[in-house]
Amino acid sequence: MRTYEQVQSLRSFVSACRTDGHNIGFVPTMGALHEGHLSLIRRARSECDRVVVSIFVNPMQFGPDDDYSSYPRNLDQDGSLVSATGIDALFVPSVDEIYPAGADTSVEPPAIARRWEGEARPGHFRGVCTVCAKLFNIVQPDFAYFGRKDYQQLKVIQRMVAGLCIPVSVVQCPTVREYDGLALSSRNAYLNPEERLAAPVLHRALQAAHALWSDGEHDAEALNRAMRTKLAEAPSVKLEYSTVADAESLEPLTTIDPPAVCMIAARIGATRLIDNILLGNGAERSSTSSS
Ligand code: AMP
Repeated sequence: MRTYEQVQSLRSFVSACRTDGHNIGFVPTMGALHEGHLSLIRRARSECDRVVVSIFVNPMQFGPDDDYSSYPRNLDQDGSLVSATGIDALFVPSVDEIYPAGADTSVEPPAIARRWEGEARPGHFRGVCTVCAKLFNIVQPDFAYFGRKDYQQLKVIQRMVAGLCIPVSVVQCPTVREYDGLALSSRNAYLNPEERLAAPVLHRALQAAHALWSDGEHDAEALNRAMRTKLAEAPSVKLEYSTVADAESLEPLTTIDPPAVCMIAARIGATRLIDNILLGNGAERSSTSSS
């Protein structure tokens, strides 16, 4: 594995891969790598000739009240973890490399970005779309791997790629969870022991909704109520939103017409967590370590 800090040197690597007839898989991350990231990287490794992983904490997707400065960074450990997966290139650009002076062009996110995370975090998806468009232009991958853990982000990227005619196939990967159902996230590191104990209630709430739907309930509000009732069992968990939405448009549903997705955003102390579960087509098993 070689590490690249400059756009130009990464481009040279990519063009040599192309000359040799290799296809390229790409996994964009913000580092503080965990098993969720590694599952994407391993999948890319198993499906592509050459694999590029990027680690870049993208300032543009953090709002003024977000955790940009405190976001966990551990490049040495991340380097060892990715190196063990057998990837070919690690791209770790500086902020100036991605946003050089005068580079003030940004990508208008698709309409699907407006609700949920888009509403809770103004500007977030503009930052996500802009950095992903830049990274796609730099790496020019055939396949880009994204986790369902960030379900709205995955859908936003799929729409952006289609809307801007970017020649990359977006591959969606299942959510990797802790033994107790908590979705792995770099932000879990912020949780104190009590908060960590409370955090799996998000997954339990999603499972409750999934179970209700499996039993034949089609009223979205009934699933919403089940999620809120479960979440209320952990008073330290403050719900921001819960919804049952169409899995493609992310518009809230009244009557469930699968595929649909249940999504939750909540705060535990100072930490904001999101999670989701699919209903129908491609639905996730609700009690495994990978859903
Ligand atoms: P991040 O470093 O948080 O920007 O995440 C980079 C990629 O890893 C995104 O596509 C995420 O959706 C994905 N990811 C994060 N957590 C998980 C998880 N627990 N399971 C699967 N993918 C994940």
